[in-house]
Amino acid sequence: MFKSLLIANRGEIAVRIMRTARRLGLRTIAVYSDADAGAYHVREADDAVHIGAAAAKESYLVIERIIEAAKRSGAEAIHPGYGFLSENVAFAEACEKAGLVFVGPPASAIRAMGLKDAAKALMEKAGVPVVPGYHGEMQDARFLEGEAQKIGYPVLIKAVAGGGGKGMRRVDDPKVFEAELKAAQREAGSAFGDERVLVEKYVARPRHIEIQVFADAHGNAVYLHERDCSLQRRHQKVIEEAPAPGMPEAMRRAMGEAAVAAAKAIGYRGAGTVEFIADASKGLSADAFWFMEMNTRLQVEHPVTEAITGTDLVEWQLRVAAGEALPLAQGDIPLNGHAVEVRLYAEDPANNFFPSTGRLTRMRLPGDAAIRADMGVEEGDDVSLFYDPMIGKIIAHGETREAALSRLRRFLRSAEVAGPKTNLAFLAAVAGHDAFLKADIDTGFIDRHLAALLPAPKLDALTLGAALVGHLADRARKTEAAQRATRDPYSPWAASDGWVLGGGRRQVLTFTLDGEALAIPVRMQGGAVRFVHEGGEHVASGTLGPDGGIVATVDSVRMKAAFVPAARGFALIREGVVRDFIVPDPLDVDLVHEGEVGALKSPMPGKIVAVLTGAGAAVKKGAALVVMEAMKMEQTLAAPADGVVEAVNVAAGDQVEAGAALVTFEGGD
Ligand code: ADP
Repeated sequence: MFKSLLIANRGEIAVRIMRTARRLGLRTIAVYSDADAGAYHVREADDAVHIGAAAAKESYLVIERIIEAAKRSGAEAIHPGYGFLSENVAFAEACEKAGLVFVGPPASAIRAMGLKDAAKALMEKAGVPVVPGYHGEMQDARFLEGEAQKIGYPVLIKAVAGGGGKGMRRVDDPKVFEAELKAAQREAGSAFGDERVLVEKYVARPRHIEIQVFADAHGNAVYLHERDCSLQRRHQKVIEEAPAPGMPEAMRRAMGEAAVAAAKAIGYRGAGTVEFIADASKGLSADAFWFMEMNTRLQVEHPVTEAITGTDLVEWQLRVAAGEALPLAQGDIPLNGHAVEVRLYAEDPANNFFPSTGRLTRMRLPGDAAIRADMGVEEGDDVSLFYDPMIGKIIAHGETREAALSRLRRFLRSAEVAGPKTNLAFLAAVAGHDAFLKADIDTGFIDRHLAALLPAPKLDALTLGAALVGHLADRARKTEAAQRATRDPYSPWAASDGWVLGGGRRQVLTFTLDGEALAIPVRMQGGAVRFVHEGGEHVASGTLGPDGGIVATVDSVRMKAAFVPAARGFALIREGVVRDFIVPDPLDVDLVHEGEVGALKSPMPGKIVAVLTGAGAAVKKGAALVVMEAMKMEQTLAAPADGVVEAVNVAAGDQVEAGAALVTFEGGD
């Protein structure tokens, strides 16, 4: 075995790889960009090498910089993780040329699976079932339309160089085939620099089931069972599990053997995943699955396989890369219980899952030995706008699917994550949805049930009571601190609050919550606060601990919650749901509106796609003004208030910084 390993990646996967490398006694070397100088993966590594600017294409994607970093730090091997350079043929070759061990397959195997059309043709030859369709050279619209007719609608148009669901279009109606084809080609051209597409049958009730394969340099190849990744949004995985619910043993064997045949056909070595699509309209069966593509690297969702097989796949990768034989033969690979993984993202489900960035002001995860949390950040770290906004992964294992899911639900409900918006409550809703519990799943599940899965915005009296306990105790604490500092009993601070000092005073507390103004009449009585919510009177009391933990009793229900101070108020976390209370500052009445009415500002750096307004236009609050692309997604920015446009400061194609005033309004500042 080599003695040192450079990890050419960041975030949770870099940290996870280091954990195994350390256990095997290897020296770990991180690489980092300007934005990641203090990042978790850098703190975890023995050594770290700076490789360039924040943008990935100036750091994590620059082959020469990584090779140079390996040489400078004396690394013997490189693990690419997933994403970035993990499936880059030139990178695998560069490692080899530099005399570095590449922890991955031979460059030729990456190349063979790089394009979807060539991979399908190769698999067909190897006897692996592929989705019926056309994957040849012809790209003429008329011709492809004819092929679609032959396949039968609905069909799926896919970019041959595709990935991440880009350049993919489902077509149900021949009349729109040509328009959808054009759109797919345009998207493919801009995302991959390759406009070519293939057309295939859109499988009914599709389930995404993939097989983990492993091969060594001694001619051994095995499969470590399947993962079901049917819970997706925009063709991107959200929840993965192993084994696949309802999987017949004969189908598992047929898929496993097909996957091993695929790996052997390309001289594979190391960890790989063969992705299949299955038609679940009549339940899973051994004659209704087809090859989609092979990922020639470690997958994000590999931990569910580790959980049910009791293996460490990164250890296997390192051993195979060092020339050792596979640790287990096919017949010795266990399948114990059931595992489910959720991907925790910094994103806002209520705002079309738009990425959310910023400092994690709180991240406390409950301790549970049956839960594995692979995190890419810790409390106090920033979720950077430069990279994928995944915070980490949570993996629950149990004897049965039901046991794993109920553990997962409990964990998600007790987790406290604040700062950027996250999909935590959304994940908990999926993990508790009846149809999901019954394993009534396919790739359309999330879209179909979206309304039921988005967190309920309604504020209940229990949550409000806990928020008042936290807010008032926090104010009292600040008041006392200020008094101690000034030693002046007549300081204006002394009169600002009745929580500790006096009783019986009535006041109305005002907050803004999800853009709505809240006015809560409150009255202090003894150690409790009486408050009115939706016409009813309630009573809350409790304490706020120094670490932000609230123990509150509201209307005789005792509960726990967390209070997280923020720049303009606080966040209240209860049962995995975060609510951001904005507290107006009496000394700075305009703070809440500053910058929101005078101008439409860019929420993050990005590129302007389209401008939909012009100087002099009268606009209504909520009207779409500018479309921008940021963090790989398009977002429409709307007018913050009724007004008249004074000036538009950007044009399509412009690159803008966060906070840039894109459109200014008359009478604004
Ligand atoms: P990408 O490489 O862009 O991620 P994939 O080929 O892996 O594209 O497909 C992504 C997802 O799209 C699959 O997980 C599945 O949900 C859906 N999909 C792909 N091919 C088909 C098909 N023929 N029928 C139905 N759904 C499909």
